[in-house]
Amino acid sequence: MKYFILFGPPGAGKGTQASSMAAEYNLCHLSTGELLRKEIAAGSELGLKAKSLIDAGALVPDEIVEGMIESAFRTTTGVSGFLLDGFPRTTAQAAALDSMLAKSGEEVTAVVSIMIPDSMIKERIRHRAAIEGRADDASDETIDNRIRTYHDKTEPLVGYYREKGKYHEIDGTGTIEEVRAKIFSLMGKL
Ligand code: AMP
Repeated sequence: MKYFILFGPPGAGKGTQASSMAAEYNLCHLSTGELLRKEIAAGSELGLKAKSLIDAGALVPDEIVEGMIESAFRTTTGVSGFLLDGFPRTTAQAAALDSMLAKSGEEVTAVVSIMIPDSMIKERIRHRAAIEGRADDASDETIDNRIRTYHDKTEPLVGYYREKGKYHEIDGTGTIEEVRAKIFSLMGKL
C-alpha cells in the first residue's frame, strides 16, 4: 500500500487537489478535518468535544485523530493506498503514524506539500468561506489562530520528513489546473 501525505498550510488547496489525486492513483482520501466535521454534524460525543477547539482554530487532541486514521486504515479495502489530508499535523502524530504503519511493515511513501505564502492564506480562506460556509473560515480571529497553529505545530514536520528524504514541495500559487499538473508530474516520479 502507498501512504501519501498531502501537506500545506490552511487554504493551500489540499482538499481541492485531493479528489483528482485520489481518483488518478486509486487512493482513499482521508481528511481528518472532513471526518471531524461529519462527527460534528452527526452530533456525536466526539464531535461535541472537537467543535469548540475547531471553532477556535486550535487542534483537537492527537489521540482523537490518530484513532480515526487507524480505524480507516483497518476498514478500507479495494484501494492502492491512502491520501492523508490534514494529518499528521504535529510531530507526535507523525511518530504515531510511523508506528501504526510499522506494525504491518509499512511506511509513509512520500509527502506532497502544496506551499503558498502567508499573504495568500487569508485570501484563499475568504474565498472558500463564501463557497463552503465552514464555521472555522468565518472569523478573522480563528483564521489567525489556524495560521499560528500551522507555523508552531505543523511546520516542524517539513524538517521531520525532509530528513527522511520524503518531502516534496510544489508551488501552490498558480491556478487549480496548474497546481494539479505539477502534482501529477511529481506523483508520476514517486
Ligand atoms: P482542516 O479541514 O484540515 O482545515 O481541519 C479543520 C480543523 O479540524 C483544524 O483547524 C483542527 O481544529 C481540526 N483538525 C483536522 N485535522 C487535525 C489533526 N490532524 N490534528 C488536530 N486537529 C485537526
